[in-house]
Amino acid sequence: MERVTHLLLVEDDSAISEPLSRALGREGYAVTRAACGRDALIAAAGDVPVDFVILDLGLPDIDGLEVCRRLRKGGLEAPVLILTARADEVDAVVGLDAGADDYVTKPFRLGELQARIRALLRRAQVVEEAAPEELSVNGVSIDVAARRAFVDGEEISLSAKEYDLLRVLVREAGSVVTRDDLMREVWGAEWWGSTKTLDMHVSWLRRKLGDEATSPRRITTVRGVGFRFENEQTD
Ligand code: CA
Repeated sequence: MERVTHLLLVEDDSAISEPLSRALGREGYAVTRAACGRDALIAAAGDVPVDFVILDLGLPDIDGLEVCRRLRKGGLEAPVLILTARADEVDAVVGLDAGADDYVTKPFRLGELQARIRALLRRAQVVEEAAPEELSVNGVSIDVAARRAFVDGEEISLSAKEYDLLRVLVREAGSVVTRDDLMREVWGAEWWGSTKTLDMHVSWLRRKLGDEATSPRRITTVRGVGFRFENEQTD
């Protein structure tokens, strides 16, 4: 089934972002606009998955390259195309360091930008198809493409964050995932310091997995560090 491609357009200059988002909308993309770095991070951490990011470097609050770094730290895997007025601002090394995939210098021709977007999306799709579609550990299996989770073959109903948390823990099964890493990957830019919400979600997740809080069989608390999804059941 064909799914709409969601673009996040991060550009503070409305003389660029307005016509650009209209043109991309006509191409069939669903476009979300952000006029500053903070809004971009919040949009990327929302429930709508971002398939592509167009990112201006000169933003009023956070430097575009720093936004890119934080998006990657937050777990964003979608291609990032940088817009810049000065090519020397983003030599290939800097852009790659920050996790960007390509850049276009202003002023750009719409056709050129669209061609770059298509090329990067094609490349991303090839990578995505190679990623594992199912994770299965210790009686828990996850259908990654469908965002569905099963315990002993029975589907369980999870919120978006519970699902993301379970996916990360199962993917790293057998290893401790630190609280910081979980916060970054699951909550991304929504994280402003408190990890109490993490403990709440782990507790809800344990309940849905049928884990006892006192003797969890699947998600083990590693005090002062984080959580580990156990590879095997231990009684
Ligand atoms: Ca700008």
